[in-house]
Amino acid sequence: DSMDYGPAPESSAEVMGWLGARGAFGHYIDGGFTTPADTFATENPATGATLAQISQGSAEDVARAVDAARKAQPKWAKLSGHQRAKYLYALARSLQKRARFLAVLETLDNGKPIRESRDVDIPLAIRHFYHHAGWAEMLADEFPGLAPHGVCGQIIPWNFPLLMLAWKIAPALAAGNTVVLKPAEQTPLTALAFAEICAEIGLPKGVVNIVTGDGRTGAALTAAPVDKIAFTGSTEIGREIRRATAGSGKALTLELGGKSPFVVFADADLDAAVEGVVDAIWFNQGQVCCAGSRILVAEAVANTFTERLQTRLSKLRVGDPLDKCTDMGPIVSATQRQRVAALVSAGEAAGATLVQCEGQLPAAGHFFAPGLLIGADPANPASTEEIFGPVATLTTFRTPEEAVQLANNTRYGLAASIWSENITLALDIASQVKAGVIWMNGTNLFDAGAGFGGMRESGFGREGGREGMLAYLRGPSPKPRPEAQASFDAAPHPGA
Ligand code: NAD
Repeated sequence: DSMDYGPAPESSAEVMGWLGARGAFGHYIDGGFTTPADTFATENPATGATLAQISQGSAEDVARAVDAARKAQPKWAKLSGHQRAKYLYALARSLQKRARFLAVLETLDNGKPIRESRDVDIPLAIRHFYHHAGWAEMLADEFPGLAPHGVCGQIIPWNFPLLMLAWKIAPALAAGNTVVLKPAEQTPLTALAFAEICAEIGLPKGVVNIVTGDGRTGAALTAAPVDKIAFTGSTEIGREIRRATAGSGKALTLELGGKSPFVVFADADLDAAVEGVVDAIWFNQGQVCCAGSRILVAEAVANTFTERLQTRLSKLRVGDPLDKCTDMGPIVSATQRQRVAALVSAGEAAGATLVQCEGQLPAAGHFFAPGLLIGADPANPASTEEIFGPVATLTTFRTPEEAVQLANNTRYGLAASIWSENITLALDIASQVKAGVIWMNGTNLFDAGAGFGGMRESGFGREGGREGMLAYLRGPSPKPRPEAQASFDAAPHPGA
């Protein structure tokens, strides 16, 4: 991709100027920003410094946004697919022009290494808008007889702020829906920059509305008279939203947690698999719903693999996320860091051995050393609970049957990664592993053209590709996937 990143090294001066000029943000409703009110701070997790004041959206703010989206929707849906595509192309192009700015803003707000926001988050978000401009163009031919839901309420998490926004907004708009999106309270800044871009390219007012705030704002959006809710976040809140929307006639898609297996067979290219682990669990500080967080390795190669993995772990550079040489930044917030630390301690207490990267961590910020919990048995909480941090469990298996049994020993079913040079074996295992996405000799690969989503307690519905478009359309066909929803309902819900 040829992005306009400008000269190295990455400078945050432009972004700090942008933040300083605004100071406080209102909501983006009906094509304009509201006066900031009832504000809270969003911080830089690498330093703890306040970046900006953000408005806590009230039920009235949500109602006004839904109203604006409702008024705009018939006009938006009446445009030809080609006309909607022009707006999606304009959004994509505008994001592309600001790629460097958005990468720095994302890194400041979330803490992810600049290399990742620059090479992964922002390019994928842009690609998502380009891709869905294509679907808008082809809508009438590809989905005859289907119609948009209407107004979509969209609630997203803090781990991939702009990318999750793109996953939600691009298909919704392509299909002729209008949206009210609530970014996560920890990372609202790129969504607000996106709102400015919507205004700048002349997107008709009311088509995209951004209301900021915490879970209370999300609950108000869930309760508002919208036609569909799309949520990405924790299984616990997903369950709450499912309850809140049950019987309301609102369409629902949930993309929730995971505890994805990363299975290394004896014949795997072990060096490639070691790099795979880096991408699986130490990418984005492990704050990835489909993170390969349970490493299952064939006993025959376990010692060699573990040694090489530990050597690689010891070389990870943890520190200033704005530094291009940094591999890992801070955890998004003090609360999340605390959660990660508690789960890792519980894993140790239950008998696993913690091996961590030994480098000095910065004194300020919410840093947590990446690591492995070696010898975590299947009942260990570190093997069953989503840590959502840079620590994977490492367990051995003897036979392919045992590998499958361990891989499926989870209430989740989002993703899996299988490493083997024997494609027949890999395909055979893939067909038995219960997960929405399965990678072979790779991990955490995303494409706007491929449907992404989970099974079991990882939720239901797909984002991306043809299936993702179907999630923003309704009509006589196709049928929803009742078996997926049924298995989600039937699964034991701890704490429910
Ligand atoms: P969360 O589920 O509480 O937050 C996700 C989004 O939902 C945020 O925008 C939040 O404001 C909103 N929200 C919170 N309560 C709500 C409610 N009652 N109604 C509607 N919206 C509501 O996640 P969190 O507290 O930020 O993180 C907790 C855990 O969730 C993490 O440790 C991790 O395990 C998991 N998580 C998963 C993902 C994912 O991509 N699947 C992303 C973030 C967090």
